[in-house]
Amino acid sequence: MSVIINNIQNDVLEKGVYYLTSDYKTRNDSRTHNGIDLIGKNKSIDKVVAIADGVVITSKKSKSAGNYVEIKHANNFVSRYLHMKDKSVLVKKGDIVRKGDIIGTMGNTGNSSGAHLHLGILDKNGKVIDPLPYLLGEKNFNIVIDNDYYKNFVLNVQRVLNVKQDGIAGPNTLKNTITVSSKTNRKQPIVKVIQEYLYNIGYTEVGKIDGIAGSNFTKAVKHFQKDNDCVTDGIITKRAKTWQKLLKLK
Ligand SMILES: [Zn+2]
Repeated sequence: MSVIINNIQNDVLEKGVYYLTSDYKTRNDSRTHNGIDLIGKNKSIDKVVAIADGVVITSKKSKSAGNYVEIKHANNFVSRYLHMKDKSVLVKKGDIVRKGDIIGTMGNTGNSSGAHLHLGILDKNGKVIDPLPYLLGEKNFNIVIDNDYYKNFVLNVQRVLNVKQDGIAGPNTLKNTITVSSKTNRKQPIVKVIQEYLYNIGYTEVGKIDGIAGSNFTKAVKHFQKDNDCVTDGIITKRAKTWQKLLKLK
């Protein structure tokens, strides 16, 4: 099958016309296909870009996948890009990428018969899902706040601050919060709780969830503050309202 996709949300590949040569479920040889195959009009010179913000968790070569990259996104979704050209891959494990960043060039490495991109997406349970709705902009996992993440965040905040754990943030929880930044309380247990939450709701530049507020932590906090109309100083205080916004309080 060969379907022309010309309304791809611009940045899965560089702008242009792309041809879906094999979709998520069907494949000529009837084996299940855990992603979609795309070729660009420029064949092997088309660039492959990250479909959403995230952290590179794999960048290596395998017999079947060729040169491939896996990126972890908000809500623990993972996108996979296979068969990239030798020496074209621009990212390594641990790199923070933004939606639209070029990560390599389409190629024919691994088990592939012609230059193409095999794109796969896994959900937070590791289940393979159809990438097409994400490419067409019908679905988006970039900054999606899953209610479970918020509830867990509140419970964890209450736990580390020794407040009654009811999962509902109110004035008492807020009153007990402490200032957190790369200079203040940078190694308190609360740091890990905040890192985890920021990561899960899409501020993936927070990087490693290591319980230490460093420069990536500051970057992610500033991004959150900017999105929530707070002073963008990278410092979480109740006075300047960042704590209120994290806890979704007025
Ligand atoms: Zn494929």
